[in-house]
Amino acid sequence: MATEKLFYIDQYRTEETAHVLSCEEVKGGYAVVLDRTIFYPTGGGQPCDLGTLGEATVTDVFERDEEIIHLCDRPLPVGETVTGKIDFDRRFTFMQQHSGEHLVSGVVHRRFGYENVGFHMGSDCVTFDFSGEISAQELKSIEREVNEIIYQNIKTEFLYPDEASLHTYPFRSKKELSGWVRLVKFGDADLCACCGLHVAATGEIGLVKLLSTTKFHEGSRIEMLAGIRALDYMNALAEQNREISNLLSAKPFATAAAVKRVSEELASAQYRVTELENRLFAVKAAQYAGSGDVLLFESAMSPDALRCLTDAVMQACGGRCAVFSGEDGNYKYAVGQGNGDLRDMTKALNAALNGRGGGKPFFVQGSVAASKKEIEAFFAAL
Ligand SMILES: [Zn+2]
Repeated sequence: MATEKLFYIDQYRTEETAHVLSCEEVKGGYAVVLDRTIFYPTGGGQPCDLGTLGEATVTDVFERDEEIIHLCDRPLPVGETVTGKIDFDRRFTFMQQHSGEHLVSGVVHRRFGYENVGFHMGSDCVTFDFSGEISAQELKSIEREVNEIIYQNIKTEFLYPDEASLHTYPFRSKKELSGWVRLVKFGDADLCACCGLHVAATGEIGLVKLLSTTKFHEGSRIEMLAGIRALDYMNALAEQNREISNLLSAKPFATAAAVKRVSEELASAQYRVTELENRLFAVKAAQYAGSGDVLLFESAMSPDALRCLTDAVMQACGGRCAVFSGEDGNYKYAVGQGNGDLRDMTKALNAALNGRGGGKPFFVQGSVAASKKEIEAFFAAL
């Protein structure tokens, strides 16, 4: 027996009684069929309602041969009356996303002639795909137009044309339709065949925020948030910006300029550090002029600085120069020797000091998990 779909009569009904027609144990719980239901089953790109039936928690709802199956965590007595309650916050959020999607698709279709060829209502945002390319500039103007339609608070109409007159309605549809068709109309903004649930007037969508447009196959993929999700997203962004604004002592609308300034300052400071390091390395190298093999320990350095210091000392000392930067248990190393061949030594070093690394025959870099003492002992034994 077909389940009576109360959600099409009133999409705001959050609680209703019904008779339990059947209850079967299935994988994952109990499949309960009622004579009528307020639970919307997954379909038309819209996730199902969740909630409770009597004492049972409803974990999934889907439609099979006109019957709506409520997957419950416990059995319900057949023939009894139960009260169903839906999680209306969840339902309403989906209604906002879904209705927002209609308005965006309607505007895109009217202005560009592109079809909506894919739709996914995820837990983070709604993505949909269009048959043509939409630029970032166009996205902004679509967003503005959609929000203006929201402000007009247009009443939603649901039309059920008969098969003979169906072709006279200029509606959008993803596939060829026949038989029972439900059309959802938002004034002149959109007319679309859809079995999902929608708000009663566009004002309830609240806000549509189009996050991005990217090239996808031959068209574009758009990311959208509507209603409370859009508000939450904008609040999270504003909070991020507030933190950046505090950290950089910049006004909220001047954070990008402040970040640009800070990165320029950082680049210039890094340039200055490199310059000073090179001078320091030259002074250090001069101390080891002609002294043969050298082993140095330094505090943590960048790989570039480590290489530069090793190179400078190697040129001066005339022997093998090994520099270890870091601390016990975690040293980065660089070893160089003018015309030397360090391959056998590197193998032995990595094996003895729990290390890894390599490079050219005369210059190698890597890391070891060993102590200063162990490293000194290794070089003393060479
Ligand atoms: Zn819809």
